[in-house]
Amino acid sequence: MRIVVTGAAGFLGSHLTDRLLSEGHEVVGVDSLITGNPENLKHLSDEPRFHFVRADVTKYIGVNGVVDRVYHMASPASPKDFPRFPVHICKVGALGTLNALGLSKAKGARMLLASTSEVYGDPEVHPQAEGYWGHVNPIGARSMYDEAKRFAEALTMSYHHQNHVDTRIVRIFNTYGPRMRLDDGRVLPNFMRAALRNEPITIYGDGSQTRSFCYVDDLIDGLIRLMESKLDEPVNIGNPEEVTILEFAREIIAIVGSKSQIVQHPLPTDDPVRRRPDITRARTLLGWEPKVQRPEGLRRTCEDFTRRVLIEKADAAS
Ligand code: UDP
Repeated sequence: MRIVVTGAAGFLGSHLTDRLLSEGHEVVGVDSLITGNPENLKHLSDEPRFHFVRADVTKYIGVNGVVDRVYHMASPASPKDFPRFPVHICKVGALGTLNALGLSKAKGARMLLASTSEVYGDPEVHPQAEGYWGHVNPIGARSMYDEAKRFAEALTMSYHHQNHVDTRIVRIFNTYGPRMRLDDGRVLPNFMRAALRNEPITIYGDGSQTRSFCYVDDLIDGLIRLMESKLDEPVNIGNPEEVTILEFAREIIAIVGSKSQIVQHPLPTDDPVRRRPDITRARTLLGWEPKVQRPEGLRRTCEDFTRRVLIEKADAAS
């Protein structure tokens, strides 16, 4: 197939691109490089089945020729990005999704929207199943992302019903793995980079808040299974194994063999207290469940971070 991946230079987009190419498809990767990193695609420079288009999805997504599938992955997604690009994030969710749907409609392509567990906000229901409508502050510190993705889901369903575009919606929960930006600001890069440098690990609040972390390879499996299924309702993809942030910090210190101390910083506003996906729908309807356990996923991630932190140190020294 000929497949468009928006956000191809990002963490998830680049892993997805690699997987689709390894399955024999042709991939057109679209990225503005605002938060995407060209290093993530460097190894594909001689790959004839990969084409890169530098474009901002909020403006227009121009792709020539046949398109069979569109994976709409583009968006800044780290809480650190939220105060930096709030208007752009609103536009990516709204106008970027509109353009991705317009492209899919024009090409007769099937589109998958990368939505998020953030549509559930700071959830009052635990674990979160797809039927839960969420608990989101519409003007809060995360609202540009949460509400933009909620709107993106509404727009996707509207195109599905009104324009008969074949659509899929995945709600992605916390995911980790190689290629996350070192300065991404999310919990894993912060903790792992600090641990590798034997610097203090900063826990926001008392660390009793929970998340459920999915290894990137499992996540990508889930996305492709959903795309190739018949399910037009949203589907959670994530790892239901929940861990407190304090416990997660200790695991990373142990995996790295670090001397880092744990220190506390204030909890950011609207930081969700608990998050864990109910993956019954993915299990029963897609036959999907995560396979990589945290110790193994963290080991693989640590290898990649060790290499990049060394390069970063050498660059800083020169
Ligand atoms: N967090 C932390 N220290 C950090 C970065 C994040 O304690 O250096 C916490 C954050 O407050 C949140 C959790 O880790 O409770 C996950 O944060 P992340 O930014 O990775 O993503 P979120 O799941 O909140 O979107």
